[in-house]
Amino acid sequence: MNKNYRYMYAISMAIIVVTTLAYCSKQIDQDRQMITKAFDTVDIISLFSLSSDDIKNNTVLYIEQAKNIINTIIAIADDQRTFANTARPIDELVSLSNLAIARRVYEALELLSPDDNIRATAHDASLQIAAFYVDYVTSNKALYQAFMAYETQAQENEYLSAQQRYFLNNTKDEFKRSGLSLPDETLVQLNELRKELAQLCAVFDRNIAQDASTIAVTRDHLDGLDDDFINTLTHTDNGLYILGVDYPTYHKVMENCSVESTRKALYIAFNNRAYPANDALLKKIIVKRDELAQLLGYIDYAHNDIDDQMAHTPERAQQFITDLGQRSLHKAEQEIATLTFELPQSVTLTNSGKIKPWDFAYLENSYKKSHFNIDEQKISEYFPMKKTIDELFDIYRQFFSIDFQEVSGNGLWHDDVSIVRVINPADGQLLGTVMIDLFPRPNKYSHAAHTTIIPATVMPDGTCIPDVSVLIANFSKPTASKPSLLQRNQVKTFFHELGHALHAVLGATEIASMSGTSTKTDFVELPSQMLEQWLTDKDILKKISSHYITGQALPDDVIDAVISLKNMTVGHSVTRQVYCASISLAYFGIGQSGEKDPFVIMKNLYEVIVPYMAFSEDDHFYTSFGHLTGYGAKYYGYLWSKVFALDIFSEIKKHGLLDPVIGQKYVKEILSKGGAQDPNELLYNFLGREQNTQAFFDDMGL
Ligand SMILES: [Zn+2]
Repeated sequence: MNKNYRYMYAISMAIIVVTTLAYCSKQIDQDRQMITKAFDTVDIISLFSLSSDDIKNNTVLYIEQAKNIINTIIAIADDQRTFANTARPIDELVSLSNLAIARRVYEALELLSPDDNIRATAHDASLQIAAFYVDYVTSNKALYQAFMAYETQAQENEYLSAQQRYFLNNTKDEFKRSGLSLPDETLVQLNELRKELAQLCAVFDRNIAQDASTIAVTRDHLDGLDDDFINTLTHTDNGLYILGVDYPTYHKVMENCSVESTRKALYIAFNNRAYPANDALLKKIIVKRDELAQLLGYIDYAHNDIDDQMAHTPERAQQFITDLGQRSLHKAEQEIATLTFELPQSVTLTNSGKIKPWDFAYLENSYKKSHFNIDEQKISEYFPMKKTIDELFDIYRQFFSIDFQEVSGNGLWHDDVSIVRVINPADGQLLGTVMIDLFPRPNKYSHAAHTTIIPATVMPDGTCIPDVSVLIANFSKPTASKPSLLQRNQVKTFFHELGHALHAVLGATEIASMSGTSTKTDFVELPSQMLEQWLTDKDILKKISSHYITGQALPDDVIDAVISLKNMTVGHSVTRQVYCASISLAYFGIGQSGEKDPFVIMKNLYEVIVPYMAFSEDDHFYTSFGHLTGYGAKYYGYLWSKVFALDIFSEIKKHGLLDPVIGQKYVKEILSKGGAQDPNELLYNFLGREQNTQAFFDDMGL
């Protein structure tokens, strides 16, 4: 997942003539001084070292500064407008200004700070800033007119780069899409809706992060789980063990616990996170988003949301998803037939012969253990976190021709957070700084994600502002006797999120608001999903595995089995993605607008798309489906961009997964362009041909 804050337009900006901070001799405007912090670790840490009062006071100050930027842009005489005094400051306002950076810092603190006060203040401040952008940018007609005055006339007299022209076109479209050509009273309504939606979505996200549901079971009910894991669990005075809904606990139990009642109880707790609070919120979000879209002239929110994407219309996205669903269902049904041919002891099918949803992971794991001697718990012993991550960095070091430097994260929001600096070894230049927060704790964002704090930007004088990013995951903590051991799916998650981080670090563009991951949502998951593919290669698995006691790599026979079983349940996992994508399209559009019942829609889709698995009436998955706020109707983007990811991967594989030459080509043609060029052109330039779906279907055996 990428938490990508494109306030609205693809407006990005660089500022002023700033040289690399190290040499920064020129005065940087007060209202953009936070970008100077991107160069030094101590400064980056200081961005997050805030009291509640700091957050409140800074917000007021930065809002005043942003108003000044806007007033300055508006005050310029139309015949004096240039890219540098009109377009670039608009780009900066939403990406590099103190206010823009503070907003991202607050959003990160709200997801990650262990301090209740900081989270609450950061939440309020983010909403205050969101409301400011609505009032002063998204609906500011004077700003829009200033931009259009430049866009329609002045730019003819100026040489503009391709990225600058792309930015102007996009910004013009986005201003229009945000309703600036509509009457004032409509704009007022739009503003109210936007603010209300920002608030509803923020609370929806917070409810998921703060859900602390648990179940309590006896020791007998933990059969199948190893002692090390059980010893990490807290227990009650009367001897009950507490299981939380954090990812490591959930997956561990679902895959290994041989007691059905435990799996069922935890499945229900997990799929009722933020229920019922988010059920009511989601109903409101759906209605308000449709209202917003209709004021803008769209039939529903999905049409509004997908208009500027690669897919362009929800119908096209739905068609793509439906086709994939048909291919994957056939495969999924074959997989289920194989898995259920011989049922392990604690698994039974329903009367109609369906598999129960809390049994799937256990069934899959049991099958791999009994038929292929693959035990994911044992395999995880070959992936101690520190060593695995070091090896992973080494892969990127070779492929991307970059270097990593680990430095202390002391002073950040939690002791678990570490910092990695990414360096260009050719000239020692800092490309970016990634703060890495990998262990679960109460009130922390529960999913995995990458988020940019300061976007990597090529300044007008050619110098670069390095990226500042945060990478979030929730992996198993070390125990008294073992280091943190990563399951293969966790290694994959790390590859994925680091893929986003490298997109951000290597994606410096002239347009700050189009840097790195600030690209189309249905393109943004390409670099992350592509890097997951490295884990399907024997040499790579050999390289990154190292038993935590013996130091030996994963044995050949295990690697061979793991690779041969790569597609063992691919039909089910694509089906699951098709189901999630269909939910997001159905909630926000496709045919009907107005009041909807998310539970009923979800259930109906489940029964059509996942007919081989029983539906649990206690399942309220949608209340913790966090993508519904950030990705809106665009969850299909995962599968959409995976098609391109596999096309590109198939080209790279011809050269070798550690080949720096193809690595450089990938950086040059894809990553370094961020969102500042049409994704179709990027794909064509890298592939030297039109993209196609062949590699995707071949790879998945669909
Ligand atoms: Zn992602």
